[in-house]
Amino acid sequence: MKAVLVGVGQAGGKLTTALAEFDADMGFGAVTDALAVNTAAADLDPLPLETVLVGQSRVNGHGVGGDNELGAEVMREDSVEVLDALAPKLTAEVEAVFVVAGLGGGTGSGGAPVLLNELQQVYDVPVYALGVLPGRNEGALYQVNAGRSLKTVVREADAAILLDNDAWRSAGESVESGYAAVNEAMAKRVGLVLAAGEAVEGVGESVVDTSEVINTLRGGGIAAVGFASAPAAEDPGENINVVTSTTRKAVTSGMSLPNATTADAALLAVAGDPDRIPRKGAEKARSWLQEKTGSMQVRGGDFPLDSDRLASLVLLGGVERSDRVEAFLERARQAVRDEAEEKPDPASAFDNDQLEDLL
Ligand code: GDP
Repeated sequence: MKAVLVGVGQAGGKLTTALAEFDADMGFGAVTDALAVNTAAADLDPLPLETVLVGQSRVNGHGVGGDNELGAEVMREDSVEVLDALAPKLTAEVEAVFVVAGLGGGTGSGGAPVLLNELQQVYDVPVYALGVLPGRNEGALYQVNAGRSLKTVVREADAAILLDNDAWRSAGESVESGYAAVNEAMAKRVGLVLAAGEAVEGVGESVVDTSEVINTLRGGGIAAVGFASAPAAEDPGENINVVTSTTRKAVTSGMSLPNATTADAALLAVAGDPDRIPRKGAEKARSWLQEKTGSMQVRGGDFPLDSDRLASLVLLGGVERSDRVEAFLERARQAVRDEAEEKPDPASAFDNDQLEDLL
Protein backbone atom coordinates (compact mmCIF):
# COMPACT_ATOMS: atom_id res chain seq x y z
CA MET A 1 0.00 0.00 0.00
CA LYS A 2 1.56 3.27 -1.07
CA ALA A 3 1.07 5.49 1.94
CA VAL A 4 1.84 9.01 3.11
CA LEU A 5 2.38 9.38 6.85
CA VAL A 6 1.62 12.43 8.97
CA GLY A 7 2.97 12.31 12.50
CA VAL A 8 1.23 14.66 14.93
CA GLY A 9 2.86 15.43 18.29
CA GLN A 10 5.97 13.93 19.82
CA ALA A 11 5.07 10.24 19.69
CA GLY A 12 3.54 10.77 16.24
CA GLY A 13 6.75 12.28 14.87
CA LYS A 14 9.01 9.62 16.37
CA LEU A 15 6.86 6.73 15.27
CA THR A 16 6.50 8.18 11.78
CA THR A 17 10.29 8.43 11.58
CA ALA A 18 10.68 4.83 12.75
CA LEU A 19 8.16 3.67 10.14
CA ALA A 20 9.74 5.62 7.30
CA GLU A 21 13.19 4.29 8.27
CA PHE A 22 11.99 0.69 8.51
CA ASP A 23 10.37 0.95 5.08
CA ALA A 24 13.51 2.48 3.57
CA ASP A 25 15.88 -0.02 5.24
CA MET A 26 13.81 -2.93 3.97
CA GLY A 27 13.58 -1.35 0.51
CA PHE A 28 9.79 -1.79 0.40
CA GLY A 29 8.87 1.62 -0.99
CA ALA A 30 5.44 1.57 0.65
CA VAL A 31 5.98 4.82 2.53
CA THR A 32 6.13 7.33 -0.29
CA ASP A 33 6.50 10.40 1.90
CA ALA A 34 6.13 11.63 5.47
CA LEU A 35 5.48 14.83 7.39
CA ALA A 36 5.73 15.71 11.08
CA VAL A 37 3.47 18.30 12.71
CA ASN A 38 3.87 19.69 16.22
CA THR A 39 3.31 22.69 18.47
CA ALA A 40 6.71 22.09 20.10
CA ALA A 41 9.66 23.19 17.97
CA ALA A 42 12.12 21.20 20.09
CA ASP A 43 10.33 17.94 19.26
CA LEU A 44 10.42 18.65 15.53
CA ASP A 45 14.10 19.67 15.32
CA PRO A 46 15.68 16.20 15.64
CA LEU A 47 13.35 14.55 13.11
CA PRO A 48 14.76 13.75 9.66
CA LEU A 49 11.42 14.68 8.08
CA GLU A 50 9.73 17.69 6.58
CA THR A 51 8.02 19.47 9.47
CA VAL A 52 5.22 21.96 10.11
CA LEU A 53 5.15 23.94 13.36
CA VAL A 54 1.55 24.80 14.23
CA GLY A 55 0.09 27.09 16.88
CA GLN A 56 2.97 29.55 16.91
CA SER A 57 0.67 32.47 17.64
CA ARG A 58 -0.74 30.57 20.65
CA VAL A 59 2.21 28.77 22.23
CA ASN A 60 5.21 30.20 20.45
CA GLY A 61 6.76 26.84 19.65
CA HIS A 62 6.62 25.59 23.25
CA GLY A 63 3.94 22.90 22.92
CA VAL A 64 0.49 22.58 24.52
CA GLY A 65 1.50 20.48 27.54
CA GLY A 66 -1.17 17.86 28.06
CA ASP A 67 -3.96 20.15 26.92
CA ASN A 68 -5.58 18.27 24.09
CA GLU A 69 -8.36 20.82 23.71
CA LEU A 70 -5.72 23.39 22.89
CA GLY A 71 -4.11 20.81 20.60
CA ALA A 72 -7.40 20.49 18.73
CA GLU A 73 -7.93 24.26 18.52
CA VAL A 74 -4.48 24.88 17.20
CA MET A 75 -4.91 22.23 14.51
CA ARG A 76 -8.24 23.73 13.52
CA GLU A 77 -6.64 27.15 13.15
CA ASP A 78 -3.52 26.03 11.29
CA SER A 79 -4.73 23.02 9.32
CA VAL A 80 -4.32 24.89 6.04
CA GLU A 81 -0.55 24.93 6.55
CA VAL A 82 -0.57 21.19 7.15
CA LEU A 83 -2.79 20.48 4.15
CA ASP A 84 -0.59 22.71 1.96
CA ALA A 85 2.51 20.79 3.01
CA LEU A 86 0.75 17.49 2.34
CA ALA A 87 -0.77 18.33 -1.04
CA PRO A 88 2.36 17.76 -3.17
CA LYS A 89 2.99 14.47 -1.35
CA LEU A 90 -0.42 13.05 -2.24
CA THR A 91 0.43 12.00 -5.77
CA ALA A 92 -1.78 9.74 -7.90
CA GLU A 93 0.04 6.57 -6.73
CA VAL A 94 -0.83 7.16 -3.06
CA GLU A 95 -3.40 4.66 -1.78
CA ALA A 96 -3.84 5.81 1.81
CA VAL A 97 -2.91 8.47 4.34
CA PHE A 98 -1.99 7.57 7.92
CA VAL A 99 -2.27 10.10 10.73
CA VAL A 100 0.09 8.89 13.45
CA ALA A 101 -0.22 10.12 17.06
CA GLY A 102 0.08 9.29 20.74
CA LEU A 103 -3.53 9.55 21.95
CA GLY A 104 -2.64 10.39 25.55
CA GLY A 105 -0.76 13.68 25.09
CA GLY A 106 -1.87 17.11 23.89
CA THR A 107 -0.88 17.98 20.34
CA GLY A 108 -1.41 14.53 18.83
CA SER A 109 -4.37 13.64 21.02
CA GLY A 110 -6.31 16.77 20.12
CA GLY A 111 -4.81 17.48 16.71
CA ALA A 112 -5.05 14.04 15.07
CA PRO A 113 -8.89 13.84 15.08
CA VAL A 114 -9.15 17.36 13.64
CA LEU A 115 -6.62 16.56 10.91
CA LEU A 116 -8.38 13.27 10.10
CA ASN A 117 -11.61 15.18 9.62
CA GLU A 118 -9.96 17.73 7.32
CA LEU A 119 -8.23 15.04 5.26
CA GLN A 120 -11.49 13.12 4.82
CA GLN A 121 -13.05 16.18 3.24
CA VAL A 122 -10.23 16.64 0.76
CA TYR A 123 -9.10 13.14 -0.27
CA ASP A 124 -10.83 10.08 -1.70
CA VAL A 125 -8.21 7.59 -0.54
CA PRO A 126 -8.75 5.98 2.88
CA VAL A 127 -7.47 8.04 5.78
CA TYR A 128 -6.38 5.82 8.66
CA ALA A 129 -5.26 6.62 12.17
CA LEU A 130 -2.31 4.97 13.83
CA GLY A 131 -2.80 5.68 17.50
CA VAL A 132 -0.62 4.92 20.52
CA LEU A 133 -2.49 4.08 23.72
CA PRO A 134 -0.86 5.03 27.02
CA GLY A 135 0.38 2.18 29.21
CA ARG A 136 -1.58 1.49 32.37
CA ASN A 137 1.13 3.03 34.55
CA GLU A 138 1.01 6.37 32.78
CA GLY A 139 -0.86 9.13 34.62
CA ALA A 140 -4.59 9.74 34.74
CA LEU A 141 -4.42 12.68 32.34
CA TYR A 142 -2.99 10.39 29.66
CA GLN A 143 -5.83 7.90 30.16
CA VAL A 144 -8.50 10.59 30.05
CA ASN A 145 -6.99 12.28 27.01
CA ALA A 146 -6.61 8.97 25.19
CA GLY A 147 -10.20 7.93 25.96
CA ARG A 148 -11.58 11.13 24.55
CA SER A 149 -9.24 11.21 21.59
CA LEU A 150 -9.96 7.59 20.72
CA LYS A 151 -13.66 8.28 20.48
CA THR A 152 -13.14 11.04 17.91
CA VAL A 153 -10.35 9.27 16.08
CA VAL A 154 -12.54 6.20 15.55
CA ARG A 155 -15.35 8.38 14.26
CA GLU A 156 -13.17 10.38 11.86
CA ALA A 157 -10.78 7.72 10.53
CA ASP A 158 -11.62 5.00 8.02
CA ALA A 159 -10.07 2.71 10.64
CA ALA A 160 -7.83 3.23 13.65
CA ILE A 161 -4.93 0.84 14.12
CA LEU A 162 -4.03 0.89 17.79
CA LEU A 163 -0.65 0.28 19.34
CA ASP A 164 -0.63 -0.20 23.10
CA ASN A 165 2.47 0.99 24.91
CA ASP A 166 1.96 -1.89 27.35
CA ALA A 167 2.27 -4.44 24.57
CA TRP A 168 6.04 -4.16 24.42
CA ARG A 169 7.04 -3.20 27.90
CA SER A 170 9.36 -5.79 29.34
CA ALA A 171 9.11 -6.43 33.06
CA GLY A 172 10.51 -3.66 35.22
CA GLU A 173 11.38 -1.40 32.32
CA SER A 174 9.66 1.95 32.18
CA VAL A 175 7.94 2.91 28.97
CA GLU A 176 10.04 6.06 28.69
CA SER A 177 13.36 4.21 28.75
CA GLY A 178 12.19 1.81 26.12
CA TYR A 179 10.56 4.12 23.55
CA ALA A 180 13.14 3.55 20.84
CA ALA A 181 12.70 -0.23 21.09
CA VAL A 182 8.90 0.11 21.34
CA ASN A 183 8.82 2.33 18.27
CA GLU A 184 10.94 -0.14 16.33
CA ALA A 185 8.64 -3.01 17.24
CA MET A 186 5.58 -0.97 16.30
CA ALA A 187 7.18 0.22 13.06
CA LYS A 188 8.02 -3.34 12.07
CA ARG A 189 4.45 -4.57 12.42
CA VAL A 190 2.79 -1.63 10.73
CA GLY A 191 5.57 -1.34 8.14
CA LEU A 192 5.01 -4.96 7.14
CA VAL A 193 1.27 -4.39 6.79
CA LEU A 194 1.95 -1.44 4.49
CA ALA A 195 4.45 -3.50 2.51
CA ALA A 196 2.31 -6.64 2.33
CA GLY A 197 0.69 -5.61 -0.93
CA GLU A 198 3.90 -4.23 -2.38
CA ALA A 199 5.67 -7.56 -2.78
CA VAL A 200 7.10 -7.93 -6.22
CA GLU A 201 9.25 -11.04 -5.95
CA GLY A 202 7.59 -14.31 -6.93
CA VAL A 203 4.25 -12.69 -7.65
CA GLY A 204 1.62 -15.38 -7.91
CA GLU A 205 -2.01 -16.01 -7.25
CA SER A 206 -1.50 -16.54 -3.56
CA VAL A 207 0.29 -13.25 -2.92
CA VAL A 208 -1.43 -10.79 -0.62
CA ASP A 209 -2.71 -7.70 -2.36
CA THR A 210 -3.13 -4.14 -1.07
CA SER A 211 -6.88 -4.37 -1.66
CA GLU A 212 -7.02 -7.19 0.91
CA VAL A 213 -5.44 -4.96 3.51
CA ILE A 214 -7.91 -2.19 2.69
CA ASN A 215 -10.85 -4.62 2.72
CA THR A 216 -9.83 -5.98 6.11
CA LEU A 217 -10.00 -2.42 7.45
CA ARG A 218 -13.16 -1.53 5.51
CA GLY A 219 -15.55 -2.10 8.39
CA GLY A 220 -13.87 0.76 10.25
CA GLY A 221 -13.54 0.90 14.02
CA ILE A 222 -10.43 -0.31 15.77
CA ALA A 223 -7.78 -2.55 14.22
CA ALA A 224 -4.68 -4.25 15.60
CA VAL A 225 -1.61 -5.94 14.14
CA GLY A 226 0.23 -9.06 15.27
CA PHE A 227 3.52 -10.59 14.26
CA ALA A 228 5.70 -13.59 15.08
CA SER A 229 8.48 -15.36 13.19
CA ALA A 230 10.54 -18.56 13.44
CA PRO A 231 13.33 -20.32 11.54
CA ALA A 232 12.06 -22.38 8.62
CA ALA A 233 13.24 -25.52 6.82
CA GLU A 234 13.90 -25.48 3.08
CA ASP A 235 11.25 -28.15 2.52
CA PRO A 236 7.79 -26.56 2.88
CA GLY A 237 6.42 -29.89 4.07
CA GLU A 238 8.44 -29.49 7.24
CA ASN A 239 7.07 -26.00 7.90
CA ILE A 240 3.39 -26.72 8.54
CA ASN A 241 3.80 -26.44 12.30
CA VAL A 242 6.04 -23.39 11.90
CA VAL A 243 3.23 -21.48 10.20
CA THR A 244 0.50 -22.63 12.57
CA SER A 245 2.58 -21.90 15.65
CA THR A 246 3.80 -18.46 14.49
CA THR A 247 0.19 -17.55 13.70
CA ARG A 248 -0.88 -18.60 17.20
CA LYS A 249 2.01 -16.67 18.69
CA ALA A 250 1.27 -13.55 16.61
CA VAL A 251 -2.27 -13.50 17.97
CA THR A 252 -1.77 -14.67 21.54
CA SER A 253 1.42 -12.78 22.40
CA GLY A 254 2.39 -10.60 19.48
CA MET A 255 -0.54 -8.22 19.02
CA SER A 256 -0.20 -4.43 19.08
CA LEU A 257 -3.28 -4.48 21.29
CA PRO A 258 -2.84 -7.53 23.51
CA ASN A 259 -5.82 -9.87 23.75
CA ALA A 260 -7.80 -7.90 21.20
CA THR A 261 -8.74 -11.10 19.47
CA THR A 262 -12.45 -10.85 18.84
CA ALA A 263 -12.59 -9.35 15.37
CA ASP A 264 -14.94 -8.66 12.48
CA ALA A 265 -12.31 -9.27 9.81
CA ALA A 266 -8.84 -10.74 9.66
CA LEU A 267 -5.93 -11.02 7.28
CA LEU A 268 -3.11 -13.53 7.59
CA ALA A 269 -0.03 -12.86 5.50
CA VAL A 270 2.58 -15.59 5.66
CA ALA A 271 5.87 -13.85 5.02
CA GLY A 272 9.02 -15.51 3.76
CA ASP A 273 10.53 -17.39 0.84
CA PRO A 274 7.51 -18.60 -1.21
CA ASP A 275 9.25 -21.96 -1.78
CA ARG A 276 9.26 -22.59 1.96
CA ILE A 277 5.63 -21.60 2.61
CA PRO A 278 3.47 -24.72 3.08
CA ARG A 279 0.01 -24.34 1.51
CA LYS A 280 -1.46 -26.72 4.05
CA GLY A 281 0.08 -24.80 6.94
CA ALA A 282 -1.28 -21.50 5.68
CA GLU A 283 -4.77 -23.03 5.31
CA LYS A 284 -4.67 -24.55 8.77
CA ALA A 285 -3.52 -21.27 10.28
CA ARG A 286 -6.35 -19.42 8.55
CA SER A 287 -8.95 -21.84 9.90
CA TRP A 288 -7.50 -21.43 13.38
CA LEU A 289 -7.64 -17.63 12.99
CA GLN A 290 -11.27 -17.81 11.93
CA GLU A 291 -12.16 -19.79 15.02
CA LYS A 292 -10.07 -17.64 17.36
CA THR A 293 -11.38 -14.28 16.15
CA GLY A 294 -14.96 -15.35 15.45
CA SER A 295 -14.61 -13.57 12.11
CA MET A 296 -16.30 -14.94 9.02
CA GLN A 297 -13.98 -12.91 6.82
CA VAL A 298 -10.45 -14.26 7.08
CA ARG A 299 -8.35 -13.24 4.12
CA GLY A 300 -4.93 -14.64 3.50
CA GLY A 301 -1.96 -14.90 1.21
CA ASP A 302 1.79 -14.96 0.88
CA PHE A 303 4.11 -12.06 1.46
CA PRO A 304 7.25 -12.99 -0.49
CA LEU A 305 10.37 -11.94 1.38
CA ASP A 306 13.95 -13.02 0.99
CA SER A 307 14.53 -14.78 4.32
CA ASP A 308 15.31 -18.18 5.83
CA ARG A 309 12.58 -17.56 8.41
CA LEU A 310 8.82 -17.64 8.09
CA ALA A 311 6.60 -15.09 9.76
CA SER A 312 2.89 -14.65 10.38
CA LEU A 313 1.57 -11.14 10.02
CA VAL A 314 -1.97 -10.78 11.31
CA LEU A 315 -4.19 -7.75 10.78
CA LEU A 316 -7.47 -7.76 12.70
CA GLY A 317 -10.25 -5.30 11.87
CA GLY A 318 -13.20 -4.41 14.09
CA VAL A 319 -11.69 -5.49 17.43
CA GLU A 320 -13.68 -2.98 19.50
CA ARG A 321 -15.70 -5.71 21.21
CA SER A 322 -12.51 -7.23 22.61
CA ASP A 323 -11.89 -7.37 26.35
CA ARG A 324 -8.73 -5.36 25.89
CA VAL A 325 -10.50 -2.37 24.40
CA GLU A 326 -13.16 -2.53 27.09
CA ALA A 327 -10.44 -2.67 29.77
CA PHE A 328 -8.77 0.44 28.37
CA LEU A 329 -12.06 2.30 28.18
CA GLU A 330 -12.83 1.37 31.77
CA ARG A 331 -9.42 2.75 32.77
CA ALA A 332 -10.21 6.01 30.97
CA ARG A 333 -13.67 6.21 32.60
CA GLN A 334 -12.16 5.55 36.02
CA ALA A 335 -9.61 8.33 35.46
CA VAL A 336 -12.49 10.65 34.56
CA ARG A 337 -14.38 9.63 37.73
CA ASP A 338 -11.28 10.14 39.90
CA GLU A 339 -10.76 13.52 38.37
CA ALA A 340 -14.40 14.50 38.95
CA GLU A 341 -14.03 13.54 42.63
CA GLU A 342 -10.93 15.62 43.00
CA LYS A 343 -12.35 18.56 41.14
CA PRO A 344 -16.15 18.67 41.53
CA ASP A 345 -16.33 21.39 38.94
CA PRO A 346 -19.57 21.07 36.93
CA ALA A 347 -17.93 22.84 34.03
CA SER A 348 -15.20 20.20 33.88
CA ALA A 349 -14.42 19.46 30.27
CA PHE A 350 -14.00 15.78 31.05
CA ASP A 351 -17.64 15.02 31.50
CA ASN A 352 -18.31 11.35 32.16
CA ASP A 353 -21.03 11.27 29.50
CA GLN A 354 -18.44 11.87 26.85
CA LEU A 355 -17.06 8.42 27.41
CA GLU A 356 -20.36 6.60 27.82
CA ASP A 357 -21.15 6.35 24.12
CA LEU A 358 -17.55 5.80 23.21
CA LEU A 359 -18.11 3.01 20.76
P1 GDP B 1 2.10 15.41 22.26
O1 GDP B 1 3.46 15.77 21.72
O2 GDP B 1 1.48 16.52 23.03
O3 GDP B 1 1.17 14.91 21.21
O4 GDP B 1 2.28 14.25 23.31
P2 GDP B 1 3.07 12.86 23.17
O5 GDP B 1 3.20 12.48 21.75
O6 GDP B 1 4.29 12.92 23.99
O7 GDP B 1 1.98 11.92 23.79
C1 GDP B 1 2.10 11.35 25.03
C2 GDP B 1 1.75 9.90 24.92
O8 GDP B 1 2.54 9.31 23.91
C3 GDP B 1 2.04 9.13 26.18
O9 GDP B 1 1.09 8.10 26.31
C4 GDP B 1 3.43 8.58 25.94
O10 GDP B 1 3.65 7.39 26.63
C5 GDP B 1 3.42 8.34 24.46
N1 GDP B 1 4.72 8.53 23.81
C6 GDP B 1 5.51 9.62 23.81
N2 GDP B 1 6.60 9.43 23.04
C7 GDP B 1 6.50 8.17 22.55
C8 GDP B 1 7.29 7.37 21.68
O11 GDP B 1 8.34 7.76 21.18
N3 GDP B 1 6.81 6.12 21.41
C9 GDP B 1 5.67 5.64 21.93
N4 GDP B 1 5.30 4.39 21.60
N5 GDP B 1 4.89 6.34 22.75
C10 GDP B 1 5.30 7.60 23.05
